[in-house]
Amino acid sequence: MLRRTAVAAGVLVLALPGVSEDVAVAQTADPRPPRPQTAASPLAGRVIVIDPGHQLGNHNFPRRINRQVPAGGFTKPCNTTGTATDRGYPEATFVWQVSRLVGARLRELGATVRLTRQSNRQDRWGPCVDVRGRAGNALPDGGADLKLSVHADGSYAAGARGFHVITPPDRAPWTADIHRPSRRLASSVKAGLLAQRFGVASYTAGGDGIDVRSDLATLNLSDVPTVMVELGNMRSASDARVMTSPAGRARYARGLVSGVRRFLG
Ligand code: ZN
Repeated sequence: MLRRTAVAAGVLVLALPGVSEDVAVAQTADPRPPRPQTAASPLAGRVIVIDPGHQLGNHNFPRRINRQVPAGGFTKPCNTTGTATDRGYPEATFVWQVSRLVGARLRELGATVRLTRQSNRQDRWGPCVDVRGRAGNALPDGGADLKLSVHADGSYAAGARGFHVITPPDRAPWTADIHRPSRRLASSVKAGLLAQRFGVASYTAGGDGIDVRSDLATLNLSDVPTVMVELGNMRSASDARVMTSPAGRARYARGLVSGVRRFLG
């Protein structure tokens, strides 16, 4: 960030030579030399879509949110309100905060990052799951390298806690084309979260932290490798403690970035 400010300041010095003293000081105060492109930008040229689940205001727009949309051979409601911790910290806000951290770090590493929503506001809704599902498919430079949909679960099962990663099945004509790389992305994201000391979910099918599902438009409509990660169970007091702390969210973000980097090699 400092370097970018200095570059902008340099432009300002040229444009306004008479009022540039403070700007010129700021420019020369940057002690860091430019870093080599390859070391600083290992993800240069990569395009990554991050999908923070559920706009915060969805519950204020029930008619729009309940409208049926294409979901991959069937229809589903546009979206849902998402879950929350017992004390009312919303899933929408949690996944927004984590997604922003992930996006910022991936951009630092040189990637082009696109989010499926640009705000976290009570007076906004959507996008619908079909839009989220297609978000990585047709970008100006071709499809994204991957799409990561970020959610948290809301299970009332006793003792339910931990993360799991949902990946699409071999199902023509919807996800037969992406199920293999998506499965590899799921394994990479799981490894990234394990490396940050998060535990796999104790309550989902298989118990290995990877779930295969065909009922999610966000996955079904994708033409690029994609997974949905449920970072934890917001109804678990222990998971909620981590989710509601800035340090905990930073740890989730490190796990996801690590997973993305593992996948991209
Ligand atoms: Zn969700």
